[in-house]
Amino acid sequence: MAELDRKQDRAPVPSSWEYAPAPEARDLVQLRDRYGLFIGGDWLEPKETYETIDPSTEDPLAKVGQSTPEEVNLAVGAARDAFENGWSTISPSERAKYLFRIARILQERAREFAVLESLDGGKPIRESRDVDLPLAAAHFFYYAGWADKLEYAFPNRKPRPLGVAGQIIPWNFPLLMLAWKIAPALAAGNTVVLKPAETTPLSALHFCDVLRQAELPPGVVNIVTGDGRAGAELVKHPGVDKIAFTGSTEVGKAIQRELAGTDKRLTLELGGKAANVIFDDAALDQAVEGIVNGIYFNQGHVCCAGSRLLVQESIYEPAIEKLKRRLGTLRVGDPLDKNTDVGAINSRQQLDRITELVASGEEEGADIYQPPCRLPEKGYWFVPTVFTNVAQSYRIAQEEIFGPVLSVLTFRTPDEAVEKANNTPYGLAAGVWTEKGSRILAMAQKLRAGVIWANTYNRFDPASPFGGYKESGFGREGGRHGLGPYVELE
Ligand code: NAP
Ligand code: MG
Repeated sequence: MAELDRKQDRAPVPSSWEYAPAPEARDLVQLRDRYGLFIGGDWLEPKETYETIDPSTEDPLAKVGQSTPEEVNLAVGAARDAFENGWSTISPSERAKYLFRIARILQERAREFAVLESLDGGKPIRESRDVDLPLAAAHFFYYAGWADKLEYAFPNRKPRPLGVAGQIIPWNFPLLMLAWKIAPALAAGNTVVLKPAETTPLSALHFCDVLRQAELPPGVVNIVTGDGRAGAELVKHPGVDKIAFTGSTEVGKAIQRELAGTDKRLTLELGGKAANVIFDDAALDQAVEGIVNGIYFNQGHVCCAGSRLLVQESIYEPAIEKLKRRLGTLRVGDPLDKNTDVGAINSRQQLDRITELVASGEEEGADIYQPPCRLPEKGYWFVPTVFTNVAQSYRIAQEEIFGPVLSVLTFRTPDEAVEKANNTPYGLAAGVWTEKGSRILAMAQKLRAGVIWANTYNRFDPASPFGGYKESGFGREGGRHGLGPYVELE
């Protein structure tokens, strides 16, 4: 026994349990130096280009096209030709076949696409691998299933495709947002011109290889890259029948103004400031996991992020203590490391916005907490942050930060929770944590949000419709509802 004690004395005692690096293989992706625009099934050499970078290192990844009005026009023309010369008239089960193929190829190439998504956007590989890719493939599978059953989606009506859909997506879930847009449009018989976000075009460009592999007829899907100017061209193009936009409320409003008085159809999936409501009877450890998942998942670059935590006063102290302890265990760093929980902020511009809003929170009088955390020297990073002592009027409680920043408020009664949760111009999502089923149902009735999660958060399924109220937009994506915006009903 004495010997054993001596041995233990001599053994080196680690100060903390460090994780060994577990990098995913970057060479799973073969990047090209330069990408064209994908128009009519071919790569078109762009007139102007810009560079997309890896936000975790600021290293350039590739040159991509900044689409000009002429190039957007070519893409819309190709989509129109494809619509009239085949896609809208082939049998629905044929259309389903292509969607199934796309889904299967995405599954086969999932590892490659996950790396690509993390490289170009900064999100942890664990999320790209376990969330973005499986869900993107699932969306194509799901809408493949609807393609030849549209009359069951709209009983006693005759659904007809609209024509050419112009689709504009943000940078937080590049491939997944592409899937949310393209799958229902194609299933309903439309053709597409899609503009990915300026900072994350690469997965959409590699997706064009998937389309070729699936032998999708040329022109059914066209990809035009570039910044907001390319999006604006698409919005105002007279050859586009429908605009589907996911992005900020500000740009959404501008698009709505642009389309007022035209007969173009429009759906808007915009920002949010979701409340995650924790009652005193909730399973607290699970709720803390839900809070962390709600706001630090994907660096908080999530439209439905649970960015306002509403805690019942009686459990405020243990809840905050557990939350702070949990925050200290989050690993921030290399997006391609399989152990990383929080990756890089998507762009310098987004980092500046988060920094500015966090400074406003401190100035207005909230208490800031950030766990000790060593950030990489290059790239864009932000430490997971919690604000307590937040008043409802503070900017951090009102405005969408779109970063890893949580604002904590308290409540005493369910009515007060509802009032505070609904005190926002947005209405995209909410979370409720309680052991009482009746309370979940009562809260769900009163919360003005498109999606309400109970004892979980940030769960997605292609069969479940997603969308907002108020300034979070209108229209639903996912489920049978997601087909509605892509059909004319006779
Ligand atoms: P954003 O600035 O509105 O950009 C969204 C897309 O629109 C990008 O492709 C953007 O191009 C393009 N765009 C910019 N100006 C345009 C214009 N005048 N006309 C047409 N298109 C234009 O939003 P973001 O900052 O990329 O994304 C974050 C926002 O998206 C957040 O508010 C978030 O809540 C929201 N979001 C909502 C959902 C949802 O389902 N409700 C999902 C994800 C994200 P650039 O890339 O060049 O800017
Ligand atoms: Mg990038």
